[in-house]
Amino acid sequence: MQLLDGKLTAAAYKAQLAAQVKNLQSQGLRPPHLAAILVGDNGASETYVASKVKNCAEVGFESTLIRLTANTTEAELLDTITQCNNNDAIDGILVQLPLPKHISEQKVIEAIDPAKDVDGFHPVSVGKLVQGLDTFVPATPYGIMLMLEHYNINTKGKHAVVIGRSNIVGRPMSVLLSSNHPYGNCTVTVAHSHTHNLADLCKQADIVVAALGKPGFVTADMIKPGAVVIDVGITRVADATKKTGFAIKGDVDFDSVAPLTSYITPVPGGVGLMTIAGLLQNTLKAYLFRKGITL
Ligand code: NAD
Repeated sequence: MQLLDGKLTAAAYKAQLAAQVKNLQSQGLRPPHLAAILVGDNGASETYVASKVKNCAEVGFESTLIRLTANTTEAELLDTITQCNNNDAIDGILVQLPLPKHISEQKVIEAIDPAKDVDGFHPVSVGKLVQGLDTFVPATPYGIMLMLEHYNINTKGKHAVVIGRSNIVGRPMSVLLSSNHPYGNCTVTVAHSHTHNLADLCKQADIVVAALGKPGFVTADMIKPGAVVIDVGITRVADATKKTGFAIKGDVDFDSVAPLTSYITPVPGGVGLMTIAGLLQNTLKAYLFRKGITL
């Protein structure tokens, strides 16, 4: 078993990005600039956005954190997005999800200029992804693809089971793994809450991507010896021994599954860190595209 180390892998991609920013600056160009919009005071969202801002600084990107209160109206949020769309100094826009119930996430996603859609959730980005065109890939599946590339994992012709079909993880992950890409070309089964015999399906898989949000759901009896297991799950589980009062748990029962695998991601220290790497890559991409620069 080899650990797919998100910390080391993300650090390698971040070092590349930092060098690219230095190179741009040496040519008198400004660095890429991400605007992150946070509505309300959801604890997990606060942590994610703070980490995104910190990581931007680490690679030399500029970032602006726009904080809006939980009672911000949909119209006010849409107006903020329009201002970011029209601001030439901003290359990428992300609105941290989930949003308060009174705001339509779909309207918000569609309000972002597709040229600045660094989360890759806009229907234009999704449509291009499905058609195999160059576009912004949602950060978590993108980060997983970067990890497969970093460890040079052979995916061609393999059977992958993706558990979960959400627009931010499972669905785009299944598209990427089945696409004609050096780390794609898998035969993909997409499993969801109505799937029967999931354990049997997983047992046939060479690659399992667990993205359902149920801690410890994937157990050893579901895994074929030698499989690659990617754990996307992040769930806060109460833990009185931790200073925060909670522990972060993945969707895979790591201790029982890991010995069976060829490669596995830990939680924490796996996919979460690669998600940030994916977002940073998308922000650079938006910048280069908007400025018409080819590196
Ligand atoms: P979601 O709730 O939107 O989707 C969950 C999916 O799992 C659904 O498609 C549902 O059909 C499927 N599902 C639920 N129960 C199932 C079951 N018993 N069998 C098979 N499928 C089942 O969740 P999401 O936004 O896709 O996130 C999934 C998990 O990944 C969560 O724990 C989330 O916190 C985590 N996540 C992590 C990162 C990261 O950076 N590591 C990023 C995004 C999401």
